[in-house]
Amino acid sequence: MHNVDWKVEIRRLSLLLLLAAFIGWIFSVTAWLLFFTTLLYIGWVLRQMQRIQTWLAQHSDSPPPESRGLWGDIFDGIYRIQRQNMEEKQRLQAAVDYLQDSFASLEDGTVMIDKQGAITWSNAAAEKLLGLQYPDDKSQQINHLIRAPEFIRYFDGGDYNTSLDMRSPNNRYYELQLSVSYFGQGSRLLFARDVTENNRLQQMRTDFVANVSHELRTPLTVINGYLETLVNNGLSDEVRCQRAISQMLGQSQRMETLIKDLIMLSRLESVPEVISQQVVNVRTLLEQIREEVLAAGHGQRQIIIDCDDSIQLEGNRDELHSAFVNLLMNAAKYTPEQGKIHLLWYQGPDAGCVAVEDNGDGIEAHHIPRLTERFYRVDDSRSSETGGTGLGLAIVKHILLRHQAELNISSSLGDGSSFLCEFPINRVIPRPVSD
Ligand code: ADP
Repeated sequence: MHNVDWKVEIRRLSLLLLLAAFIGWIFSVTAWLLFFTTLLYIGWVLRQMQRIQTWLAQHSDSPPPESRGLWGDIFDGIYRIQRQNMEEKQRLQAAVDYLQDSFASLEDGTVMIDKQGAITWSNAAAEKLLGLQYPDDKSQQINHLIRAPEFIRYFDGGDYNTSLDMRSPNNRYYELQLSVSYFGQGSRLLFARDVTENNRLQQMRTDFVANVSHELRTPLTVINGYLETLVNNGLSDEVRCQRAISQMLGQSQRMETLIKDLIMLSRLESVPEVISQQVVNVRTLLEQIREEVLAAGHGQRQIIIDCDDSIQLEGNRDELHSAFVNLLMNAAKYTPEQGKIHLLWYQGPDAGCVAVEDNGDGIEAHHIPRLTERFYRVDDSRSSETGGTGLGLAIVKHILLRHQAELNISSSLGDGSSFLCEFPINRVIPRPVSD
């Protein structure tokens, strides 16, 4: 279609020039007339260009100026493209409005921030939780409005793999969990979640467990004491009675262990990071633990210690002691007599490793991801035989977390298990030569 228009236009111009040449020839002014006709044509073309430029400059969606021939087509073409662009823009704007509406209705504070750190949009929840007012605060730097040093450090740090817990700058009552993610070309989306209620419930749960455990501990100690006296002094003559008392003693001792473990877990939960740290000689610690486990009646298992004595481990000695005792106790409990247990301490490629390996019962693969859950037991009967509480590995996991360490478990049923504690390399301290 456009080719035809071009042809028509060329034909029209040719005809015009021919006519000018003919008239010019009659009056013997051919060159002049051709010259004036060309000028006239150029003038007309310029006029069309000026009209279109004026129309484009108006930025309105009024139809383009009327014109005939090729210029009419050009005007219509531009108008069509402009309309398509407008429709596309409206569609995009509708999508943006829809998204902003949905963000606006979120209970989480939501803030869009451009590459330079200036606010481009925020919702109503951001006003309540962060004190940001939209549109008043639009184009303001976010870290001029939220001035808490921990926020500025987090926001400017650019590492948003973890979230930030902080109090609301607007109302100290609110406890917030902030997370940031990148979108577009360097823009950022900030979410602020109100976790006040969650934290309160969590705190209540922890306090409840700790309080109940403390309350139960005293009466249980008294009952235990009396039962021990009865058993030790043979105060009950009847054999049946003696057996019942022994069983009661066994069960109340089990409850005592359970309560001790619950209190330990609550304590670990209430302070998320280790406060006092020492440089621990791992061989000495593991030897002490071996003595304790053997003394607890696991004498038949062979426990071999293999340590790299040139390195030590930085951490809280008591907590590390608890974690390794739990692992070794388990290895001893779930390894038959005459079994072999290895305790290892060495430096891996990027971690300091304490491993507890046994050739005992082993664990089926599908249990492994759940072993560190509280009260998770592979086999209830096996655990009640061994006197397990189901809390041992949960305690180990918590202690390791507090040392930024990880627990890796590998096992195969019937062949044994390996519990590997991987500590960050900055906790591995070379041992002075004179030690
Ligand atoms: P428990 O007090 O019952 O031993 P834990 O949390 O210490 O509780 O361990 C959870 C479960 O993991 C145990 O019930 C046991 O079945 C399994 N388990 C732990 N260590 C070993 C091991 N070395 N060998 C085989 N099974 C193990």
